[in-house]
Amino acid sequence: MALALSAAGCKVSGPLARGEDLSKAAEGADVLVLAVRDSEVGAVAAAIEPSEGCVVAHLSGSLGLDVLHPHPRRASIHPLAPLPSREVGARRLASGIYFAVEGDPAILALVELLHGRVLEVDPADRVGYHAAACIASNHLVALMGQVERVAKSAGLELEPFLRLAFYSLEDVASLGPAGALTGPASRGDLTTIESHRARIGKTEQPAYDALATEAMRLASGGDLLPAGEGIGQPAELQVIQEARTFSDVLEKARSQGLAIGLVPTMGALHEGHRSLIERSATECDLTAVTIFVNPLQFEDPSDLACYPRTLDEDLEVARKAGAEIVFVPPVEEMYPGWPAPVDTRVHVSSMSDVLEGSSRPGHLDGVATVVTKLFSLAGRCRAYFGEKDYQQLAMVRRMVADLSLPVEVVGCPTVREENGLALSSRNVRLSPQERVRALALRRALLAGRAAVLGGERNPAAVRALMAAVLDAEEGVERDYAEVVDAASLTTPEVLAGELRLLVAARVGPVRLIDNESVHAPALAVTAFAGQGAGRLSTASDEGTGQVARLLASAGL
Ligand code: AMP
Repeated sequence: MALALSAAGCKVSGPLARGEDLSKAAEGADVLVLAVRDSEVGAVAAAIEPSEGCVVAHLSGSLGLDVLHPHPRRASIHPLAPLPSREVGARRLASGIYFAVEGDPAILALVELLHGRVLEVDPADRVGYHAAACIASNHLVALMGQVERVAKSAGLELEPFLRLAFYSLEDVASLGPAGALTGPASRGDLTTIESHRARIGKTEQPAYDALATEAMRLASGGDLLPAGEGIGQPAELQVIQEARTFSDVLEKARSQGLAIGLVPTMGALHEGHRSLIERSATECDLTAVTIFVNPLQFEDPSDLACYPRTLDEDLEVARKAGAEIVFVPPVEEMYPGWPAPVDTRVHVSSMSDVLEGSSRPGHLDGVATVVTKLFSLAGRCRAYFGEKDYQQLAMVRRMVADLSLPVEVVGCPTVREENGLALSSRNVRLSPQERVRALALRRALLAGRAAVLGGERNPAAVRALMAAVLDAEEGVERDYAEVVDAASLTTPEVLAGELRLLVAARVGPVRLIDNESVHAPALAVTAFAGQGAGRLSTASDEGTGQVARLLASAGL
């Protein structure tokens, strides 16, 4: 400022340095400019003896004039230009910029001297003025910081984007912000915006989301986005208890062209459930989570009574994961006349009585019945199920195919703790020691998998191996350890193709299940005819008995 003013013909004394005696600084001066940090203005002003003839002015955008007490003549003069160095600053100050001015009119002489333009700010609106100034300078710079990072992640320099930014500002100057707007946000092109969000990653998303939202509002005058909603922000959650309303709301959304995602749960939502909801929210336009502790699938009343119920937290998890609707029906809403027996049940013959079905009679019929009802209420949709309950997933797929239900079933990978324990709502009932014991389930599955990958094709051998791992762990009461065909859940005579290893065991008060996939490549078989017929060789060098079984199963 001192440089600019003296270049403009002003007699400038100073600047005074930090630590100098300031008491007489105002004496004999027409204007005393306090070019110090906002936080220091008050202390510096107080250190100067007031003088009738001198206007004491600060350069702050945010401070009013009270801070200049006790000086009788006060003013503020805030230049609307960044001043990164003495020379550049001096040049800019004299280049016709705006100065926000308040207080003693004598200060206007300074602005005139610098060929500046006066911006009169009402003291009552000072904060608003300063907010706008910060956005136009500091935030714009921060935004370019994001441009630099994102460009760099794509192997590009800042320079080309700087030019783009210059031209954009030029357009804002001539056309106004709304007129200058271009790009996907201005067109409401949410697909492109989503692809950007996915590419730039979570740390860059908040700034991107805020400005994409702003761009959409600017382009549409608010029409493209309903009030209170924005890019990347979870919409308001609609909690529905009545089956009819649930059905109607989804029907209406579908008639508007929205793709519906359904995530059936029993609540006590954890990361596993969250992964399902997030996947649905990414793949569908509207995600509905159902929370219903279905009494039909609990054969043990105490298990039903102990099942964790955490509705408030669940609603928060669902909302944050991107759900728009949560359906929480009371039991009478799902089973009219409850506790009268439910007359009509769904039974998937080939799948409901094995594995879980044989250990928990009626359980899978209860699941099939409630899922059919939920599908019936939801209508055409994609439904997300976890592989954690693999038999349930396979059964639902079969049921959908057999009953021609208008549902696309999507299986999602099991979410585990770092140590491998599959997340389950029931895990909260395990003691720390039981949580460690529960890891035997995972170990058993991995041992079975390793055996199959190592060439074992005898299901009994794989079963026995997994059972041995479970039985070796104290406090783990094995229910079953099985290896089955992944689609049909039947046990093949010789293991081949896509298989599923499944285990169930009681650990303390809780019955746990887990499973793992494994692919058993078909054995390469060469049979030599003629002399020496019967000599068989296999790629994995297993016994001829096994090969013979393979040939028999292939009808050879
Ligand atoms: P539940 O509330 O236990 O009935 O589970 C609801 C849905 O979440 C089912 O499709 C489960 O398979 C799925 N789920 C439960 N635990 C997990 C997990 N650890 N990882 C992935 N999905 C899970």
